Amino acid sequence: MYSTLELAKKLIKFPTVTPNDVGIIAFVRFLLEPLGFRCTEIEFCEDGYKNVKNLYAVYGNAKPVLCFAGHLDVVPAGELKAWSHGPFTPTLQDGKLIGRGAVDMKGAVAAFLSAAMKFVSNNKDIQGSIGILLTLDEEDTGVNGTIKMLKHLDESGEIFDYCIVGEPTSAQSFGDMIKNGRRGSITFNLNVNGVQGHVAYPENAKNPNHILVKILSELIELKLDEGSEYFAPSNLEVSSIDVGNFVTNIIPEKASATFNIRFSDIHTCKSLRVLVDEICKKYSDDYELNIISESESFISRSEFLEGIVKIAIKQVLNIPAVTSTDGGTSDARHISKYCPVIEFGLLNESAHKINEFCCIDDIEKLSTIYYNIIYRVLSGRIKI
Ligand SMILES: [Zn+2]
Repeated sequence: MYSTLELAKKLIKFPTVTPNDVGIIAFVRFLLEPLGFRCTEIEFCEDGYKNVKNLYAVYGNAKPVLCFAGHLDVVPAGELKAWSHGPFTPTLQDGKLIGRGAVDMKGAVAAFLSAAMKFVSNNKDIQGSIGILLTLDEEDTGVNGTIKMLKHLDESGEIFDYCIVGEPTSAQSFGDMIKNGRRGSITFNLNVNGVQGHVAYPENAKNPNHILVKILSELIELKLDEGSEYFAPSNLEVSSIDVGNFVTNIIPEKASATFNIRFSDIHTCKSLRVLVDEICKKYSDDYELNIISESESFISRSEFLEGIVKIAIKQVLNIPAVTSTDGGTSDARHISKYCPVIEFGLLNESAHKINEFCCIDDIEKLSTIYYNIIYRVLSGRIKI
């Protein structure tokens, strides 16, 4: 059996830029099937989107089913010359494992695969079951990934009872943070229409820049909320203001801006759409407000699972982990509709960067923590 580090290196060698499989699902099946895991591999297709392979492997027949979920796809390598070694050539240096996906999230996948394999090898009569859910469509649209796999598992009566997602949640030091939810996110694009004219004759024109500035001023001054029990205060950021006017003596015809709101459970995408629209209406009767992307906030409340993850972290690392809901989106959002879910993984600092890396020591410890979680969720009678 591979060590966690050897396994992470093997996984990094597959250049699985979303949604390319390049044999990685077959490799994982090759590891799991001889141990008795039953594998369901499904390739989902939807018009306009690339086909995506997904895998659900499960060991055992009894409840509860604890599932580890993750993605094997990675973001593109970016500028190849900027990498100290090839992005898909896993490299060990100064206690680090360097390579695309080391932290997001092949290191964690290697950690839970090796924990699950070790657990079933050590304990033939396990109480409960261990599931492994892997997709190759997390870093892109996700249309043919976890969402469809969850629906399939639910419809076939195979949905699991608890889930750990191995996204990199640690912030300052490994093990300091777990996540039980995420903020919502909504991105708007606003086009304000005016009337083009000479800057010297504003009475014959209507300046959309002035209108846009007033709308944005009110938006950025908004106090959306004070936060809630699990969420930090909601926040709006303007990411782009575009006019496209390259001369100095023309009042332009149009002005546009793009802005994003990361929001707590006090708001919904719908309530924010109404709020932003009302503010736009105050200053203009000729605008288009478009939604670029939107996802609701979610929270997964399970004292049992959250408690177990924290105890396991404390036992292995001797530090207390805090529970947070910040950061971007992840597949935990979809999983939370079916069962309690906690996200816990490596340090997120180098995710998606050139020379992405994780500490070798951390992935070994992460695997021990996952093993500890399996033990605690499935049975108190099995020796660690
Ligand atoms: Zn990820």
